[in-house]
Amino acid sequence: MTQKPVRKIALIIGGGPAGLFAAETLAVAGLRVVVVDRMPSLGRKFLMAGRGGLNLTHSETVERFKSRYGESLTALDQHLDIYPAQRVIDWAEGLGQSTFVGSSGRVFPKAMKASPLLRAWLARLTTLGVTFALRRRWLGWDITGQPLFATHHNATTNQDLLSGLRPDVTILALGGASWPRLGSDGQWATPLAAAGVTLTPFTPSNVGVVIPWSEPLLKHAGEPLKRIAVSVGDKRTRGEAMITKHGLEGGAIYALSPQLRDALASGEAELTIDFRPDLSEEILVGHLSKPRGKQSMSNHVRKAAGITPAAIALVRESREGALPNGPRALAFAIKNATLKVTSLEGLDRAISTAGGVAFSAVDGAMMLKARPGVFVAGEMLDWDAPTGGYLLQATFATANAAAHGALRWLANAENT
Ligand SMILES: Cc1cc2nc3c(=O)[nH]c(=O)nc-3n(C[C@H](O)[C@H](O)[C@H](O)COP(=O)(O)OP(=O)(O)OC[C@H]3O[C@@H](n4cnc5c(N)ncnc54)[C@H](O)[C@@H]3O)c2cc1C
Repeated sequence: MTQKPVRKIALIIGGGPAGLFAAETLAVAGLRVVVVDRMPSLGRKFLMAGRGGLNLTHSETVERFKSRYGESLTALDQHLDIYPAQRVIDWAEGLGQSTFVGSSGRVFPKAMKASPLLRAWLARLTTLGVTFALRRRWLGWDITGQPLFATHHNATTNQDLLSGLRPDVTILALGGASWPRLGSDGQWATPLAAAGVTLTPFTPSNVGVVIPWSEPLLKHAGEPLKRIAVSVGDKRTRGEAMITKHGLEGGAIYALSPQLRDALASGEAELTIDFRPDLSEEILVGHLSKPRGKQSMSNHVRKAAGITPAAIALVRESREGALPNGPRALAFAIKNATLKVTSLEGLDRAISTAGGVAFSAVDGAMMLKARPGVFVAGEMLDWDAPTGGYLLQATFATANAAAHGALRWLANAENT
């Protein structure tokens, strides 16, 4: 009588997009897959990303797309080739969520939220036989090398799912350290460091800046700044920002996170806003030369330059409260409003985390060199990218690499 082959067991720790993606790949390959997460439900940060429309990826050319990853591209390049933007789109569409390209080139599901996609995804995983153990915090490994979990006192489901589980392969997909209340709090760094894994310190990325505002400027907190250009040193980005009580946040600011981090590390950082990036200074001087008549200075500038009261307040802020005299000086100030940044907002307010498991600690298949059979995926790896869909794209690409790496490793182990 021929014996039925024993199904290999894959343990996925972390049920965000990276973990769920790896779970799907391994379940499709025929493994028995168990996903563990410390939270009472899965994909909480993914759902939060959906509040902003769920920017899945970007439609720009491959060269431009890849350039967004800056220094991280060396480590991510081959994984983005294997799992490019089109595959993310195909995956979403395969789950019944048609997508569209927004005016900025960003790709979103038509539903503009994550919940229908996550629901369809979890249903597919359940059909594939994937099981879930929630409210279990991974603590590291015991002295025999088996995973250790702390169970939340309210855990009621799958009580026995993990007892005696001997995974053949493990994928860690524990996320970064930003927005800890959504699940990924970075505490996994302690057991990994103890296991000899090289880690880079966590730093906030895609995060707002702290600028101590004057009383008059504080009145504009919550107001948007649209179609602006922002520069730090030689780096200039275009987009939108929002005035907050503490400073500025939004895409145009987030994209400058690496430059701001460097500038702050070497002393003080300044950012410069151009409120009319589509107009040359000469043309703006022409507009501002129109007679002011009986209008207040602010009204004249607002109408002639076509900028909002919030923008005027920021121009004043950059000039210690006063608008400069004369069209030329005014045009210069509108195109060069320089503000001092005292710090970045903290990790708890950051969209993503730079730092984490160093790429030197994993091989090309994302397997930990210090722990053969354990693979790492998603934001817990030390890569950085701006908003624009690049975060989820790299999350999926690294999860794809880790899952296929795990399958190859299992196949090799069987043949030796
Ligand atoms: C407000 C906001 C908006 C965003 N919008 C976008 C966007 O539009 N487009 C985009 O590309 N990206 C966006 N992102 C970023 C994107 O959501 C993340 O890059 C992505 O979720 C990372 O996936 P991940 O699976 O690696 O980690 P996570 O999604 O963080 O998942 C990690 C999982 O691991 C679990 N976990 C952590 N530690 C443990 C432990 N010790 N034991 C057990 N489980 C543990 C957590 O509970 C969590 O479920 C946004 C992020 C935020 C905060």
